[in-house]
Amino acid sequence: MDNQERLSSFTVNKEKCAGCALCVAACPMKILKIIDNLCIMTDENKCLECGSCRDKCPERAITVTSSDISSQTAAKNRCH
Ligand code: SF4
Ligand code: SF4
Repeated sequence: MDNQERLSSFTVNKEKCAGCALCVAACPMKILKIIDNLCIMTDENKCLECGSCRDKCPERAITVTSSDISSQTAAKNRCH
């Protein structure tokens, strides 16, 4: 029943984020932006969980945890 497929597990610690936008520049998918000095995810479905934003963040405000659903998703895409 629970058919959740979280494509991204990206979170920003609001207390730590300084709005410097280094993560925005680092994101290959261009899905991050700054609103009111806070990093915002604009489209989680496009997130690659590549970790570039997390690695660039000087405040270590970003957490990206990879799930291993990608192999399962590939298996599910088979049709008969
Ligand atoms: S993990 Fe990669 S694709 Fe996802 S928001 Fe960060 S830089 Fe962009
Ligand atoms: S790099 Fe870190 S501190 Fe800078 S805007 Fe992004 S999340 Fe905030």
